[in-house]
Amino acid sequence: MQNKLVLGNWKMNGRLAANVALVQAMLADPDINRDGVGIAAPFPYLAQLGQLFAGSPLAVAAQDVSRYASDGAFTGESSAAMLADIGCRYVLIGHSERRQYFGENDACLRDKLQAAVAAGLVPVYCVGETLDERESGRFADVVAEQLKTLDAIAGQEYVVAYEPVWAIGTGRVASIEQIDAAHQLIRDRVLQCHGASASIRVLYGGSVKADNADAILSLASVGGALVGGASLEAKGFGKICQSA
Ligand code: PGA
Repeated sequence: MQNKLVLGNWKMNGRLAANVALVQAMLADPDINRDGVGIAAPFPYLAQLGQLFAGSPLAVAAQDVSRYASDGAFTGESSAAMLADIGCRYVLIGHSERRQYFGENDACLRDKLQAAVAAGLVPVYCVGETLDERESGRFADVVAEQLKTLDAIAGQEYVVAYEPVWAIGTGRVASIEQIDAAHQLIRDRVLQCHGASASIRVLYGGSVKADNADAILSLASVGGALVGGASLEAKGFGKICQSA
């Protein structure tokens, strides 16, 4: 069985001094300071994270990337090549907050996926339904539609993160049955489209905490966790990493 991957997503949080303290606490915890764990930090702190992680197996991840692959006249953007240059391994693409607040659509996400793999980054492609979409029975169609975007990078290395929008930052976690069913559906769908050889890893995200991590991460269909709020504190994050 694949080792599970745990990625912390700090979202728009952090300051130089606070990051040093948090990362030092993480480095001191052997459950965190190992292969298969990484942190997605805001752009200004990625290089700092790379320096703090030097000599450790912890992976640096970005939370977004420009859709434009070539450097040039794109004010405000950060290219995939720049992220690779400063040592990023993963990049989150299509997080529901990007889809919701920044209007990221399929065309944009397709470009980002392609730019990421071209630069040697591993995209962590996020999918998930809103509460309304789940309650009206459209969950499977919505997620299948979101997964179609992955056709742009078929055959390349990527990770999928299933994050039901209604469970993100709400404290409301999907049930174990809901998580397992969603992960099976995603795995089947990706296998169907990209062939049996695709090595599929599907992370679960949405209010993962120290006290629910064991149950979630013990599911065979769950390849790891994408952890928001609980990655801002080393003790709880360590417990989640231990569950993996
Ligand atoms: P949360 O966020 O763990 O705070 O719910 C997860 C995410 O948005 O990646």
